[in-house]
Amino acid sequence: MLQCTAVTAVPYYEALLALATMEGGPEYPPEVLAPDEFLLCELGEHGDGVEHAAHVWTAQTVDDRDLWLFWAGTGAHRVHRLDVVRLCPAVLRDLATRTVTVCTYFDHHPGPHSFSVTDPLGELITERAETDPDTDTDSDSDTDTDTDEP
Ligand SMILES: [Zn+2]
Ligand SMILES: [Zn+2]
Repeated sequence: MLQCTAVTAVPYYEALLALATMEGGPEYPPEVLAPDEFLLCELGEHGDGVEHAAHVWTAQTVDDRDLWLFWAGTGAHRVHRLDVVRLCPAVLRDLATRTVTVCTYFDHHPGPHSFSVTDPLGELITERAETDPDTDTDSDSDTDTDTDEP
């Protein structure tokens, strides 16, 4: 499945306030968010009845709570909200390569998990990164984190 192509301007002051008040937020929110920043919906393609969702910030002190921007509609009809939500506990295990891929979406997100969604642009960037020997790849294949057990 392909990634949703919706893009929206960040509601800057609301986002700054959310970053400043969330647990584990950045020390100085204006440093991590630009006023003219645009956020991309990260979910797989979905219908109008489902909110778009973009990750804004990973909490630094709490393990699995991130700030996301949710929105529906476009232009003057856009409605949005900022929410600190739990992360999706789903993991994809590849027994052949012994790799574990975690879903990067929030808990109870609509549609398929992030590892089943293809971002055409993201793949281009990855391909380029792989041909560059200096790129530090973030490989966690040795750690066997199991989030679906209590
Ligand atoms: Zn979307
Ligand atoms: Zn998921």
